[in-house]
Amino acid sequence: MRFCFLLLIFLLSALPPAHANTVDAAFDRAIAQFEAARLNLPAELFGVDVSAYRAALTFRQFTSRHWGGTVIMRVENGSATNNSCSRFAAFVRLPPSEGQVSLVLCPQFSSDGADTLRTLTILHELVHVVAGPNECRAMAFAAHIEQAATGRFTDVTSYWRANECGGSGFSLP
Ligand SMILES: [Zn+2]
Repeated sequence: MRFCFLLLIFLLSALPPAHANTVDAAFDRAIAQFEAARLNLPAELFGVDVSAYRAALTFRQFTSRHWGGTVIMRVENGSATNNSCSRFAAFVRLPPSEGQVSLVLCPQFSSDGADTLRTLTILHELVHVVAGPNECRAMAFAAHIEQAATGRFTDVTSYWRANECGGSGFSLP
């Protein structure tokens, strides 16, 4: 009986908090989609260094030709009072500072939307981490990964129009 009790405490303490669970699950799905797409990707897609992207997504550390040197990605929790969190589910603080770049996940990231949107958000934000602020590049790359991995991509027409991506030189699948 005592053994069972101890085991139960161990199991409960091993459970991650709900938020960390949501974030880890989103990263796991994004990694799985990227890996499913990876074999058919060129070394560089839409100006994104694919091996740097993979390292950032999987190991949160990458060697960057874009920023120069080794960059560590930190994942932070944004607060609702942060200005950017009133508009976005997640954002990246750019450029990296002292070899570190922060991916900020806002409350909306964990509370709102379907898992598919969380996965797309991670795929999208990682483009900013690796290749800078261009929204059309980030959306084109993320949509391409979704399409290559699952045979379809999330409808991002309104986002594409809002950022005037039509003449950007980037394209959706
Ligand atoms: Zn973006």
